[in-house]
Amino acid sequence: MRVILLGAPGAGKGTQAEAVCKALNIPAISTGNILKAAMKEGTPLGLSAKSFIESGQLVPDDVIIGIVKARIREDDCKNGFLFDGFPRTIAQAEALDQMGVTIDRVINIRASDDLIIRRIGGRRSCPACGAVFHIEHKKPKSDNLCDNCGEKLVIRSDDEPQTVQKRLQVYRSQTKPLERFYAEKGLLFEVDGEKDSSLVTKDILGVLGQ
Ligand code: AMP
Repeated sequence: MRVILLGAPGAGKGTQAEAVCKALNIPAISTGNILKAAMKEGTPLGLSAKSFIESGQLVPDDVIIGIVKARIREDDCKNGFLFDGFPRTIAQAEALDQMGVTIDRVINIRASDDLIIRRIGGRRSCPACGAVFHIEHKKPKSDNLCDNCGEKLVIRSDDEPQTVQKRLQVYRSQTKPLERFYAEKGLLFEVDGEKDSSLVTKDILGVLGQ
């Protein structure tokens, strides 16, 4: 099973990727998480991605395509995988075709701008371990401290309101055209991302025939 999760930032791709991959026993491939881990480690990849991520822009296609090519060659991808946050441009989708990767289903998680801004605005992240909380939906056990490591939670720079607006703008201009790209191939399925998270997971698994 090879699946792509599409959707605006804050539509719930990360949460759904985790739940769906657990149910299907396939790895989630999040280019965003790979880049953020590289940033934290201070690798050359991380250093080159930092300014793009912090300003809400896309990392150049050739960098992303290189990451994905290497990742899908790994052993755990033999029985399938789910892309979360890739592809984000038509050029990335075309590169995926050129790699000979056949996609079974593309799932578009729909959510309104209002909801997205509320969701991202309430996010608090742990600068030490990367765990993500929410001031309403996933409160940390102690006020503003990470459940895992006790570190003080922060608003990640790419979750600052101005950067979120930029990310939404980039999404509309560069990523949204992928809906049509995959609809024309008959691969696009829509789910309502405004429902309760567990119901969205159920809908996605339904689309995947599970
Ligand atoms: P995410 O956590 O998926 O929202 O990704 C965080 C940031 O990483 C994005 O705002 C982009 O700057 C960068 N990024 C992640 N995936 C891609 C991609 N497929 N293409 C370009 N940039 C990406």
